[in-house]
Amino acid sequence: MSLIGDRIFQLKNALPNGVTLIAVSKYHPNEDILSAYQAGQRIFGENIVQELCQKALALPQDIEWHFIGHLQKNKVKYIAPFISMIHSVDSFDLLKEINKYAQKNQRTISCLLQIHIAQEEAKFGFLPQKCIEMLQSDNWRELSNVSICGIMGIATNTENKLQIQNEFKALSDLFCKIKSKHFNNSEDFNCCSWGMSNDYQIAIKEGSNMVRIGTLIFGERIYNK
Ligand SMILES: *Cc1c(COP(=O)(O)O)cnc(C)c1O
Repeated sequence: MSLIGDRIFQLKNALPNGVTLIAVSKYHPNEDILSAYQAGQRIFGENIVQELCQKALALPQDIEWHFIGHLQKNKVKYIAPFISMIHSVDSFDLLKEINKYAQKNQRTISCLLQIHIAQEEAKFGFLPQKCIEMLQSDNWRELSNVSICGIMGIATNTENKLQIQNEFKALSDLFCKIKSKHFNNSEDFNCCSWGMSNDYQIAIKEGSNMVRIGTLIFGERIYNK
């Protein structure tokens, strides 16, 4: 068993039932993804369209690819044929574009609404109030080829565990509010995507059922290749 495979097993053992592991493989080579694959991992997360498309072509077809990074509208068409889930929908326009290309590919694409919860300007996502307004407008209900499956968030990058916990708690509260108001009859709306290598344990305590973990599985990313 490879080191990466070992880490997959350890993580899967540590995660409670019902929590899905997204192995975040951005910047890591295909052979590392294959090590995780051989350990049974099938869901991988990427955040750059071009890198994702190259990997999807080269790697086993039963991998479920999740897009987790900021997505430009003009790049939707490249991932629409195969993407399993897009975690990072941050505008109605983007949702519309995803719907358009999902339709062209005769499929339905699962989407999460990314919520800006961190105290950092640099992060993307709807402000909670903007997300609520978008859902209240009901225009999204006409988008027949996207399925809104839940929300995603990234906590502030801080040592302050209480702050992280409070941010996740806010996501959890928002999820419940949105579900009861707009998705009461939807079985699809059930994904709570929060938690990464450094904060996934807090995230699970605060209701996450999808953790996106890279560094703990694959090691540090090398950005200047
Ligand atoms: C890179 C990334 C992750 C994984 O981060 P790690 O700290 O390596 O676990 C999770 N979510 C998003 C949105 C990311 O961009």
